[in-house]
Amino acid sequence: MTQFQIPITPAEYATGLSNGAAIKGTGSEIPIFYPATGQQVGTLIEDGPQDVDRAVAAARQAFNMSGWPELSVEKRVELLEACERIILENIDELARLECLATGLVMTQIKGFHLPRAAYNFRFFAQYISQACGERYDNTDGYMSTVKREPAGVVALIAPWNAPLALATMKIAAALAFGNCAVLKPSEQTPYSLIKLVSLLNELLPEGVLNLVNGRGAVTGAHLVGHAAIDRVSFTGGTVTGREVMAAAGRQLTPCTMELGGKSANIIFASADFDKALDSALLSIFSTNGQQCLAGSRILVEETIFDNFVDAFLARMSRLKVGDPMAVETEVGPIASKTHMERILSFVDHADQDGDELLGGGHRIEELGEGYFIKPTAVTAKSNASTVCQAEIFGPFASFLTFKTEEEAISMANDTEFGLVSYVWSDHLPTVMNVSEKMRSGIVWVNTPLTRELRAPFGGYKNSGVGREGGHSCEEFYTEEKTITIPKTPLTPFQFGMK
Ligand code: NDP
Repeated sequence: MTQFQIPITPAEYATGLSNGAAIKGTGSEIPIFYPATGQQVGTLIEDGPQDVDRAVAAARQAFNMSGWPELSVEKRVELLEACERIILENIDELARLECLATGLVMTQIKGFHLPRAAYNFRFFAQYISQACGERYDNTDGYMSTVKREPAGVVALIAPWNAPLALATMKIAAALAFGNCAVLKPSEQTPYSLIKLVSLLNELLPEGVLNLVNGRGAVTGAHLVGHAAIDRVSFTGGTVTGREVMAAAGRQLTPCTMELGGKSANIIFASADFDKALDSALLSIFSTNGQQCLAGSRILVEETIFDNFVDAFLARMSRLKVGDPMAVETEVGPIASKTHMERILSFVDHADQDGDELLGGGHRIEELGEGYFIKPTAVTAKSNASTVCQAEIFGPFASFLTFKTEEEAISMANDTEFGLVSYVWSDHLPTVMNVSEKMRSGIVWVNTPLTRELRAPFGGYKNSGVGREGGHSCEEFYTEEKTITIPKTPLTPFQFGMK
């Protein structure tokens, strides 16, 4: 049995942070497991409703009294840049904590997730330093200006698959536009975000950024339905998204929902074969296959289908699965035992639907008690197969074949989701036609997983509501106020003087 090193025992990371100080929750204890060994590495103390109330009150107090919303752009830019630096200075500890609870591969955490987390702060610092205003003059002698003001106290809900990279987009945007925030990490993966928030609190005024711990159904539900919350930014599954939106809707609280996906990766015979192959592997197996952007349905043109699938399987069988701390590892463990069992249950679905299992489909017993599964691929009988319709959220690829461009478009769009589409072809009319017709918020042409932070990010259909990214975040995290002033003295209206 392989033994993995447990990075640390983070007893000190058991508590939430409210008003800049560590506060021990009053709820029950939740065990935290290291996915690479299945061993318990710590305990989280849940924040109950009164703890959430306290964090929201701390944020409200900071919003009303600390001068944070009114801070000058220059000072805010300096602070956001300091947030970037403090993340980069603490990269080793943050990376260990991220790995500890998520099982994400350390080289990917340090090579992508943490640089992105730091960059999110730099990006919004640059964004606000370039902000423009709106002014309208009309022929009746009035001038109107539009002022953007911070929305207030915002609830930020993060999922477990990539806590640092995803939560920092929310935190950086909320702070850049002058809001105070209460963050709730997933109860499975709290450590890296607790550490991050405590680091940021060394820089920020008291109460500006708070964190509550606990289960979604307890801590999360109380937070998103709270009457004193002005915005809810949620990233997670579609089913939970519906509940969160319903709770926020009862308070008329605006939400953004970044939800699930079942993205089509369409590969035409006219594509650069090697680049399309390389990217197909990356888009389904990086982040241990647990990413909303995964190209999980691989649609390959009939004339290259057999060659493409053979080449994919050869590379898939050579993927290094194992200890997420080891530099050679490419795919780590699944984040929890329950999720591993859920992923494996799709092998039975595939069997029932008449799909063909091409490789993988089982737990890797030699790796001990960790939640490792062999990278898996199936050829689906049709796009109606469960493996083509359900978001599996794991290292599990489903192949389909098509004859014509229109067939590929129709299959790609035949899903409840609409987050991302990938299109591979060197034939310009093909990529133009297909990208125009994709019902998804993002279309990546001849490139995988390339996020432009200035552009809107979000999904069509059940993949989301609203967008994140430069101006989308500005709109979401601010209220617009129109101020109208006559430029010359008013002539009396004489109303009631006749
Ligand atoms: P969940 O929807 O289960 O949970 C997301 C977050 O919501 C967690 O912090 C969870 O807490 C919390 N939560 C659960 N129930 C409630 C509730 N009633 N009220 C408030 N908060 C609640 O998603 P997962 O954590 O399983 O994440 C995986 C999902 O996220 C996938 O579907 C994936 O596609 C999606 N995702 C979407 C992305 C996007 O940008 N579109 C990016 C990354 C992931 P807890 O875990 O403690 O219960």
